[in-house]
Amino acid sequence: MKLDAKIPDGPLEEKWTRYKASQKLVNPANKRKLDIIVVGTGLAGASAAASLGALGFNVDIFCIQDSPRRAHSIAAQGGINAAKNYQNDGDSVERLFRDTVKGGDYRAREANVYRLAEVSGAIIDQCVAQGVPFARDYGGLLENRSFGGAQVSRTFYAKGQTGQQLLLGAYGALSREINRGTVKLHTRREMMDLVVVDGRARGIIVRNLVTGDLERYAAHAVVLATGGYGNLYYLSTNAMNSNGSAAWVCHRKGATFANPCYVQIHPTCIPVHGDYQSKLTLMSESLRNDGRIWVPKKKEDAEAIRAGKLRANDIPEEDRDYYLERRYPAFGNLVPRDVASRAAKERCDAGYGVGTGYAVYLDFADAIQRLGKEAVEQKYGNLFQMYQKITDENPYETPMMIYPAIHYTMGGLWVDYELQTTIPGLFAAGEANFSDHGANRLGASALMQGLADGYFVLPYTLQNYLADQINVGKISSTTSEFDEAEKAVRNRLDRLMKNASLPTSNASLLTVDHFHKALGKIMWEHCGMARNTESLAKAKALVSALESEFWELVFIPGTANEFNPELEKACRLEDYFELAQLVIADALHREESCGGHFRTEHQTEDGETLRDDEHFMYVAAWEYQGHGKPETMEKEPLIYEHIKIANRNYK
Ligand SMILES: Cc1cc2nc3c(=O)[nH]c(=O)nc-3n(C[C@H](O)[C@H](O)[C@H](O)COP(=O)(O)OP(=O)(O)OC[C@H]3O[C@@H](n4cnc5c(N)ncnc54)[C@H](O)[C@@H]3O)c2cc1C
Repeated sequence: MKLDAKIPDGPLEEKWTRYKASQKLVNPANKRKLDIIVVGTGLAGASAAASLGALGFNVDIFCIQDSPRRAHSIAAQGGINAAKNYQNDGDSVERLFRDTVKGGDYRAREANVYRLAEVSGAIIDQCVAQGVPFARDYGGLLENRSFGGAQVSRTFYAKGQTGQQLLLGAYGALSREINRGTVKLHTRREMMDLVVVDGRARGIIVRNLVTGDLERYAAHAVVLATGGYGNLYYLSTNAMNSNGSAAWVCHRKGATFANPCYVQIHPTCIPVHGDYQSKLTLMSESLRNDGRIWVPKKKEDAEAIRAGKLRANDIPEEDRDYYLERRYPAFGNLVPRDVASRAAKERCDAGYGVGTGYAVYLDFADAIQRLGKEAVEQKYGNLFQMYQKITDENPYETPMMIYPAIHYTMGGLWVDYELQTTIPGLFAAGEANFSDHGANRLGASALMQGLADGYFVLPYTLQNYLADQINVGKISSTTSEFDEAEKAVRNRLDRLMKNASLPTSNASLLTVDHFHKALGKIMWEHCGMARNTESLAKAKALVSALESEFWELVFIPGTANEFNPELEKACRLEDYFELAQLVIADALHREESCGGHFRTEHQTEDGETLRDDEHFMYVAAWEYQGHGKPETMEKEPLIYEHIKIANRNYK
């Protein structure tokens, strides 16, 4: 397959303007005749559906949850970036663009990133117009804070609930369209397959999660906005319902999957505390604006803390190692996530960790002294409360304990400049696509990208595609392609349910969660924060063996024709087994370290990532070849015409 990124001609800063000036349009009377399916109601899906509905297209939107407002986006805490330069601290579109490309370790497509920076300001205007209550200063002006990988304050926020407020804004816009009749909402539906007719995406098969029925929906185009696949690792900061399945079924149908090994590990999460945990909680990156990260300088102090003989506050200032400030004086505690995560791991592996040994301190004592408790509470109050509820420790009095955890996936469906996948008519938005973050996403840039895709990019690019579809007429869902897709889903469910008839007294049967937990452990240990040839080979073999065991021993109670959450989980896990193998294969082939992909064989003397630009400056786009067969890889070369490639240095 030949990849064509369809990057418009012309200077970088004019590409998007030129695209918009020359794209094809659909006239209002024709828009009413064109149907679009949007899967996902997070920030990317809700904003896309609301905007496309407002344009006059017929939109059907789907989500797993009982309300669009329960999409994972609601959990986003810290903020959303935009190059408004309200702080007059030197920000600009150019600087946001450069920070993003550098933050992604020079593995993102220049033209897409520039467009993202260019539309970022409009997102804030749009959200303010919707009534999103961004934080404001005493005079009423919009407030900003800083996030990692930037030396300016460009992050707009609503306390620690930015995602929630943005999603309520998008949901308001969506509800308006639902009321006008341009958007039809389908909740508690899970997309199980993509229907491709004559090479184009023409519909989806969904499972009604309440009744178990399979349903068919046809359209002229399909937009996938189904989020990331971080839950492949079982323990992550993602919502429990987040999954990679919709993207994976499209991959099986021919959509290439790009850079699967670029997985983001967030440095500030509440550490794992036991074997029976099913969820990890993020402590927002915004906390690194005022919190200082440290571990004891002396190993014996760390040991005493771990043994419960000393507490954090017993360690005098001169015996604390603020290792990020020490190693990276220019960016200090605000280095990007991959850098901060590896530094925490390095200290803990060296024996300086606190808590279980896999934790470091995030300390607000200085900030409280400097700003006062009330000011700190105003900025981060809900995060402190959440921390206290989970750990039963008061972070105003004793430092928080944090450790890196799986958080975000930069990999995803390959898309061109128009956000179209390699299947014509199938578009991907938000975290589901691989787009703009290269090998490492900067904090507060996911919300920016999801809303850029939905509010400002798809309304143009989808129209460009649909302009050629006005004569095809209504798409029927009673064709053989729909029959076959539905039949394949039915067979798949039957296969998973095969052990349901076995007596439950059969002690060797195991739950879906048992296998998911085991898969996550393999991936975290052998293909997590650090990888190498040996660990990846081990992961490959272990995942294969676990998958065989899963098919033999998994037990799913009930039937496929009813509400069955165990079956839902099993379907997602089945896909994760294949996806895990692709993540491993991608990590194995990329013989370099970049961003979140850290190959221990490729590092500098002081433990930083060592890229190999000569051989790996490309997007790796993988093509499915059938279950258990190695996928083939196509390269999209990354050509930097505007930006000067450099070593990524935060010192
Ligand atoms: C704890 C946490 C905090 C974060 N904080 C920030 C932050 O402060 N700033 C920032 O920029 N980013 C943040 N992020 C990242 C950001 O929240 C996500 O990347 C972003 O919200 C993803 O939005 P999305 O619209 O792409 O997908 P999601 O919000 O994940 O929505 C996915 C949608 O797809 C639906 N769906 C999934 N599969 C199917 C299927 N098979 N069938 C039907 N529907 C399906 C779901 O029901 C849901 O509606 C944070 C992430 C986490 C985990």
